Amino acid sequence: ATPMSIIAGVGRAAELGVLIRDADALQKASTLDTLVFDKTGTLTQGQPVITEIETVAGVDAPQALRWAAALEQGSHHPLAQAIVARAGEQTLPEATGFRTLGGLGLQGSVEGRALLLGNPALMAQHQVDIAALEPALQQYTTQGATPVLLAVDGRAVALFALRDPLRADSQRALQRLHQQGYQLVMLTGDNPHTAAAIAHEAGIDQVIAGVLPDGKAAAISRLQQAGHRVAMIGDGINDAPALAQAEVGIAMGGGSDVAIETAAMTLMRPSLEGVADAIALSRATLRNMK
Ligand code: ADP
Ligand code: MG
Repeated sequence: ATPMSIIAGVGRAAELGVLIRDADALQKASTLDTLVFDKTGTLTQGQPVITEIETVAGVDAPQALRWAAALEQGSHHPLAQAIVARAGEQTLPEATGFRTLGGLGLQGSVEGRALLLGNPALMAQHQVDIAALEPALQQYTTQGATPVLLAVDGRAVALFALRDPLRADSQRALQRLHQQGYQLVMLTGDNPHTAAAIAHEAGIDQVIAGVLPDGKAAAISRLQQAGHRVAMIGDGINDAPALAQAEVGIAMGGGSDVAIETAAMTLMRPSLEGVADAIALSRATLRNMK
């Protein structure tokens, strides 16, 4: 690998909208066999919206939404922004005893009620019976919606279904990479049903779902221990350790600062075509040097 051809490669990558911070990454990118994608904000646009609200008998949807939004005011998660936005202009009550339960949801009190808000795993962890909402849960998750469940004083009362569409060219970029023989993997904190539906739509065959924020790097390292050479593509704060662990970390340009600072490459355009371009370029660069 001559320094000159690497420098030329880094320059060419910049023209393609891929910022390379670590010149070694270009060389490493030519040796990969497995590409691991975060779901929310990487494969998808990262701006979920509430599309359905299901409640149990005796609870009305506006009330459930008001409580959920009151609690989500304290969170910066994309799901939180969607829930607060849907509550509209109304003045929301304050939450007390607010806690973020990383990768699961939130907890706190609103108007004297103990609220628990988050995914099915969180409800299971707190022994909340969600049987009444199970049919809606099944239906929406298999359609690729992310479920947020609300429990009030230990009783499940509502299900919010949120949808976050794929980025416009995710399918095409992944198809290109698939044809080149790369193993494509989705890595997400979302539940397995939603993850599988989105993976199917995107054209990804391996899914690692239900991963807690500090489990993403460990998932990368397990793939490496199995002999794979792995790139991680992500946008979130919780993707940073996995971006660092991978042979090549690739951040979405619109993502969190921590992800961008950790990754060796950053995609300046909000499209996964940049991943395919960067890898093709790395292979061409290394070929020219032989
Ligand atoms: P990812 O970015 O892969 O979706 P996260 O760790 O951010 O992973 O979130 C994992 C899951 O935890 C989400 O899919 C959601 O079910 C739940 N969750 C996290 N934060 C919140 C929140 N503020 N409100 C509701 N659910 C949440
Ligand atoms: Mg993300």
